This record gives sequence, structure tokens and C-alpha cells, in this order.
Amino acid sequence: MIASEIEPLPAEVVHLIAASEVIDSMAAVVRELVENALDAGATRIAIALEPETWGVTVADNGWGMDRDNLRQAATAHSTSKIHHCDDLWKITSLGFRGEALHSIAQLAELEICSRPALGTEGWRISYNALGEAVQEERVAIAPGTIVYVDNLFGTRAIGRQGLLSPAQELRQVQNTIHQIALCHPQVTWQVKQSERCLLTISPGATAKAVMPQLLRNVHWHDLQQLLVEVPPRCPRGSALSSGGVPERAPRGHRTPESETEENPGKIQLVIGLPDRCHRRRPDWVKVATNGRIVKSPELEQTILAAFGRTLPRDRYPVCFLHLLISPKFIDWNRHPAKTQIYLHELEYWQAQIQGAIEQALRLTPDNLPVGFHQERVRKLIADSGAEIDYSLATENLSDTSLLELRAIAQVRNTYIVAEHPGGMWLVEQHIAHERVLYEKLRDRWLLVDLEPPVILSQLTAAQLEQLGRLEIEVEPFGEQIWAVRSAPEMLHQREDCSEAIVELSLGGDLQAAQVATACRSAIRNGTPLTLPEMQSILDQWKCTRNPRTCPHGRPIYLSLEETALARFFRRHWVIGKSHGI
Ligand SMILES: [Zn+2]
Repeated sequence: MIASEIEPLPAEVVHLIAASEVIDSMAAVVRELVENALDAGATRIAIALEPETWGVTVADNGWGMDRDNLRQAATAHSTSKIHHCDDLWKITSLGFRGEALHSIAQLAELEICSRPALGTEGWRISYNALGEAVQEERVAIAPGTIVYVDNLFGTRAIGRQGLLSPAQELRQVQNTIHQIALCHPQVTWQVKQSERCLLTISPGATAKAVMPQLLRNVHWHDLQQLLVEVPPRCPRGSALSSGGVPERAPRGHRTPESETEENPGKIQLVIGLPDRCHRRRPDWVKVATNGRIVKSPELEQTILAAFGRTLPRDRYPVCFLHLLISPKFIDWNRHPAKTQIYLHELEYWQAQIQGAIEQALRLTPDNLPVGFHQERVRKLIADSGAEIDYSLATENLSDTSLLELRAIAQVRNTYIVAEHPGGMWLVEQHIAHERVLYEKLRDRWLLVDLEPPVILSQLTAAQLEQLGRLEIEVEPFGEQIWAVRSAPEMLHQREDCSEAIVELSLGGDLQAAQVATACRSAIRNGTPLTLPEMQSILDQWKCTRNPRTCPHGRPIYLSLEETALARFFRRHWVIGKSHGI
């Protein structure tokens, strides 16, 4: 069946869908029309907004509709996408509610012009509030569809009560476009307001190309992308019965079947590198499933946790997670607007996502800033207008072999100069070592007996309580004197062990205690190091899970890539074999 064939839906399906119909704002209208355009294969979508008259126009270059389909497009419960109840569970197309145009006809003046891609003539049809075609005329237009919506909500009995102000509506529309553009990076977008250009988004191979257009001060190089094929779960039975369907999911829905075991799907990830960008609010922790941004508090939590202790205090990561997965894993019935989902096999997906983020944060050769050369190739391909192969555009890394890093020298007893095949880095010795020790402590927080005990005085009740929380053993030893009988393994033989324990008693959670312990134990800046000592720090550091930033969120290394050096020294000026080239 081709997408432009529209048939009435069976009544049972109608009822299932009708409840979820929500058109409550200009942004909702835009979303519905744009999703229809995407389902029609559009690669160019232009949106014109007239907030004063509550008008929205969406023009696309998709497949278009012929006269017959156009006549039916806004009748009740028509959709070209769903035929049976069962199909609802296999939905991958976006405008699956099929109801949008009918609802819009009820709420506004609706007119559509369309010409099928292979057709020779275009038609303009206007509809009444029942969605019936009332006026038809032939028009000369390019293949595609233009939907005109005017006087939105003007026909409602309660008028426009309870709606947002035009300015708020505009912001919401813009936000909606941002979200959809992220999920459909291949589309060119143009948004106009009263003939003024509000927003244009150029297409790219992946969301990584779109994000810098939406996020000020974020550049292509600040982002890392990853596409991972999700491995099948453990053999049937174990994962299904234990991890299972989330408890809160409504009853009566299908659980994933064994056939999905073979190919659960893909995770597409674009993250802001934590040493380069982060935000004041978690507004760029975004999750999408199969082309649609969704709310999934559980997955958002997973993302935030995966960035734990890589960012400065009270800062949030930039992360766009797109799950391209079998629809059987997704339960849309969390919210009538279909904006929130439950994921079946949640724990399994959480583990996959955490693994993918860890992989993206690591220092593998593929994860390093893309070289000048590679970028030029990409640009050539883009300029030539060729279809970009996703595998080329993605710095995919099934290969997790780590980077070669060689200690060359120490500068100011603080920075290790490290050479690697693509250039060199300056690594701050203290925080690189701190990162190593912190991750060791996270993996293994061990308290050992202190023999003899450390004697402390003048501890407050709060301090004693805090030491108790950290499970450090403390006993009264006299008037205002206490004996501390255990301490973190890393500290127990240090000369400043007692100071360290006092520091730990001053507050914070276990993670904070681990950071404090790592910081105290890590090699100080200003300490001269031998080459083998430096090499040892580098070797341990490059294996850490989050090597880019210290547990306080400071960047650990400054990179001077060969490509950047060549550009700086204008090496391309030299022709022939002079100047040592
Ligand atoms: Zn430190």
C-alpha cells in the first residue's frame, strides 16, 4: 500500500485513537501537520505562522495526494496508515493518529492544496467543520502538499480561553520544530512569522549536524556521536521473566515476543563532551524513540547518572538519545498526548544506554576530535549532494582499543606533555591522577582497620554522625577525645590520615567522600615526575571511564592536534620540499 491511499478506519480502532486526540495549541497543529509531511517523505518543510490571525501554513515536498484522497483527507477517522488494532502495536509512522486533519477542520478554517509526486495536476480543496470537501479548484503547484489553517480555535464555543499568548505559542512552535528536526536531520526547515524568517535549519546526515544550529555556543567538535546496534538480550526466558514489563504499565498489553530477540534495535547518541559543554538546566537531555521526542523520566535519569561526576556542580549534560527500536518495546499509553512512554524491558535498555554513553565518553582513537582531513572529505561529499552513508558519517566504534599516549616531558611540574598519533596533549597531572583514583574508589570503597587508631578531639555531634554514615568506626576515648578505628584503604597509611578523616567528617555523601579521598591521594601539581611515573599516570588515566573531566568537572587535557597545528603554521603555504616538509 502506498501512503497516499486513504481508507476509513474500523470503528474499534477509532475509539482507541479518539481518546488520545489532543490539539490544544498552535504547536500541536504544527506538530501534526509536520508529522504528516514527514510520513509523506518530505525533505523540505516550510512553515509560516500568523500569530495575530491564528494562522498556520505548512508546505512540504512529499508525495502529495490526488483529488480523491484530498477529498477524504479531513473526514472523520481517515488514515492511510492503520488498518487493524494489531497494527497499532507496530506503529512506526509518525502521524499514526490519522485524526489530525479532521480535528483541525473542527477547530479552524482548513484548506489543502496538493499534487501527487507523479501527478500532473494539483487541487485546492476547502473543508467545512465536519471535514467534508466543500469547494474544489484546480491549482498550479509543485508536487507536494500545502495545508492552510486559519482562525485556529476561533470556532470553539469557549473561544481562545486558556490558551497561551501568541509569543508563548511561537516559542512552543519553535521548540516543537527543534525537537522534530533533531529526529529528522535529513530535512531542510524554514519557519517564517508574518513574512519574517524565524528559523532555518540545514539538513545533515545525523542529529550531530543539526544540534549546533539549535544550540548557541555549541560547535560540531564539541559533540560526539555514536550509533550502536543493540545486542540481543540473554536467551529467552531469563531476561523476559525477571526484568519484564514495568509494573506501572497498564494491563492487557502485549509483552515483547521472542521474535524481537533477534534485533532489538539501535541506539543513536549525540552527546556534548563534558569538558566542552554543559548547561544550567537539564533542558538538553532529550530522548526520542523512532523519530519522535518523548518524555521518559526513567531514561532521562539514566542519562544524568551516566554523566555523574563528569560535570561541574549543578550543571547538566547535552545529550540527545534516539532509540530506533522495535515498537513492541514501547508502550504509548502513559499519557493521552502520546508524549510519554513506558519502555518494556526497562532495565535492559537502561544498561544499554549507560554502556553507550560510557563508550562515547572514552578516549578511543575514534572518539577523538575528527581530523581536518576527514572533515574535508565529509564536506566534499556534502557539497557533491551525494547521499551520505550513515556509516561514514558516524564515528562508530565497535573498536574500543585505546589511544596510544606517550609521555614526552613535564612542564612547570604540573603538565604532562603526551604525544599521540594525531598530535599532542597537555595533561594536568593532579586531576588526571585524581580521576584514576576516584574511579578506583567508586569500584572499591574499602575501609581498613587503623592500628593504632587515630585519635581526634573536638568532634561535633554532626561530624560523628557523618563518620557513622560513611561507616568509619569511631569510639569515645576520653573527655572530648575519640579513637577512629577504621579509614578508607587509600588513606590509612598516609601521614595526613587524621586530617583526611576530619575532612570526611565535615559532610557530603559517599561520592563526595570518594572525591575528597581521591583528591587528597592524587599526586600534587608542582611535583616533579620521571618519565616512567608520567607514563604510568597516562596509562591509567586513558583507561578511565570518564577521562575528559575530573570529578569536579574540570577539563583534564588540552589537545593540540596535528591538523590544527598544520593550519596554525600555515603548512599549506609551502610548495615543494622546502622548510623541512
Ligand atoms: Zn583535586
